[in-house]
Amino acid sequence: MKKCQLSFNLYQKPLTHIVCYSGGFSSALVAIEVVRKFGKERVVLCNHDISSWTEDADIKRFKKEVATYLQLPITYVNINGIKGSDGIPDQFDLAVAEGGFKFGVTSYTCSRRLKTEPFHHWLRSNYSQGECVLYYGFSCSESERIDRRASILAEMGYEVAFPLVDWERTIYDTREIGIEPPRTYETMRHANCMGCLRAGRQHFYVTYVKRPDIWEKAKWAEKKLYPYTIIKGVRLVNIERLFQAMREAGIPATEHIPSQTFWAKVRHTLGDTYQQLHSLQNI
Ligand code: SF4
Repeated sequence: MKKCQLSFNLYQKPLTHIVCYSGGFSSALVAIEVVRKFGKERVVLCNHDISSWTEDADIKRFKKEVATYLQLPITYVNINGIKGSDGIPDQFDLAVAEGGFKFGVTSYTCSRRLKTEPFHHWLRSNYSQGECVLYYGFSCSESERIDRRASILAEMGYEVAFPLVDWERTIYDTREIGIEPPRTYETMRHANCMGCLRAGRQHFYVTYVKRPDIWEKAKWAEKKLYPYTIIKGVRLVNIERLFQAMREAGIPATEHIPSQTFWAKVRHTLGDTYQQLHSLQNI
């Protein structure tokens, strides 16, 4: 009888709205939409803090400002339960410790260790099926990511929602509430780690120019993990001379030029030098 009473009480627990609050612009909009729809009482802003060495300080500023606007704390769900961003290993340390940049074809060591595993552990430890809804900031153009996330969490028994796709919007820009988006977006398309293991040559050119310290560490990780590479078929140490020539020729370090246009401009600007240096990059 006592057991039935306990089950009944659990069932009655009000729904918790968990916003997967990455620190990026879209997840901030989702947090605002969710609080506007349900009130802040049962909203949780779940973030996986990233080493302050690879996550731009302005991303940290942005996530705190939006949380303050919503009058909510950020719930940090970090690797090994580490509090704060100091002491969190970066993507290169994790890859070297695990012996590879990726698990299988699609799962990255860093993303799995820093985000997926702590999140699944925290979720299962704190919320049972039916007790919460998880909200993500994916947009209409990310249908593959939506399907993948929805199916993984459905298998675990959790409900997911994508307000930027399915809800009537009340906000499109955090400037509407006086909060500037992270300055990271001035050169980057995503609020990801600098030297992101998922990224390609253009991102690593930006890293080479803007963060030579991270560039050096990425090369160190490739050396440690030989013959694995971060960018498929390209070793960073082999592409360095091309990047040097690009920087000297004034090629802008930005992700905002579409990839095809960007590399066409590089080819045009460097001419024969491009052909010579490009051939050196291949493994
Ligand atoms: S943003 Fe990139 S480098 Fe950072 S954890 Fe995710 S996949 Fe890894």
